Amino acid sequence: PVLANQMNEPHRISVCVRKRPLNKQELIKKEIDVVTVSGKGELMVHEPKQKVDLTKYLDNQVFHFDYSFDESSTNELVYKFTAKPLVQSVFEGGMATCFAYGQTGSGKTHTMGGDFNGKQQNNARGIYALAAQDVFASLNHSRYSNLDVSVYVSFFEIYNGKVYDLLNKKAKLRVLEDDKQQVQVVGLEESHVTKAEEVIKIIQIGSAYRTSGQTSANAKSSRSHAVLQIILRRNDWVTTLYGKFSLVDLAGNERGTDVSSNDRNTLVETAEINRSLLALKECIRSMGMNSDHIPFRMSTLTKVLRDSFIGEKSRTCMIALVAPGMTSCAYTMNTLRYADRVK
Ligand code: ADP
Ligand code: MG
Repeated sequence: PVLANQMNEPHRISVCVRKRPLNKQELIKKEIDVVTVSGKGELMVHEPKQKVDLTKYLDNQVFHFDYSFDESSTNELVYKFTAKPLVQSVFEGGMATCFAYGQTGSGKTHTMGGDFNGKQQNNARGIYALAAQDVFASLNHSRYSNLDVSVYVSFFEIYNGKVYDLLNKKAKLRVLEDDKQQVQVVGLEESHVTKAEEVIKIIQIGSAYRTSGQTSANAKSSRSHAVLQIILRRNDWVTTLYGKFSLVDLAGNERGTDVSSNDRNTLVETAEINRSLLALKECIRSMGMNSDHIPFRMSTLTKVLRDSFIGEKSRTCMIALVAPGMTSCAYTMNTLRYADRVK
């Protein structure tokens, strides 16, 4: 199911794609699968296999990524080739980021493990939890026995350019930048954790806050970015930052369609999502070019992640999620084109 391009050392930037299976409703509606994962990190968006004249919508496009995961891939497998290699860089004092990118319903939250509808099993088996488990495994590994650090977790949401602390009743927090360009989220809660189970508990509590106060289940949460950070701090008296792993469940990228909306709130949201996803792409690209100029001020998302785009030890992984259906095709193409340009 996984098709690796390169199996050697982790890249500074890796870009992967994961296709989810057709779901029950889509099968009932006889939705046509137009996405095929083929060899060597390749994914193809193609004409329907059935004899249906829909070819005018599609022109057999092939994309190449570091890894492509088909619909039979598990979270464990995706994790192994995406976020797992980044844990090591965090233990070597690096800043790592892993992003889930895609339209609403493509499987971002499923992959990250931030499902909140009582799906405890997914909390325990998504990338959030798997990364947490590996962090504690590494902490106890002889290789890092000389490293005197503790683990902390923060979990927040960025909605309309504002930061809300999911570990502190959704308190609205300010983002400040000092004269050395150091960015700080003022008052962000950092919970000290000693085992992976504690992290999972935090994810469950935080995820519940993510949706609270919403009328429809997936409304606001699909228009916000959720950021889980696993932080290593030295056990010195000022708890100096050592390494950080940011795991980001991005806002749905389907905003293009909302532009016609008359609703002011929707327009503001849409503009903000556009801006932040564009900023993210630019920051990762600059990072890839080892540029001194990282345009992190373009959005709150890139501001709070500023540290992660600079420094030799920074690593990032983008997981693009796509739905397989014909009716999602335009969104799928958008997602793939974005992912294609990140690197
Ligand atoms: P998003 O966060 O991108 O809006 P979700 O993660 O909530 O999307 O996924 C939408 C639905 O599809 C959920 O019910 C989820 O459980 C299901 N789903 C997503 N990806 C997969 C997958 N790879 N395998 C099985 N079900 C999936
Ligand atoms: Mg989601």
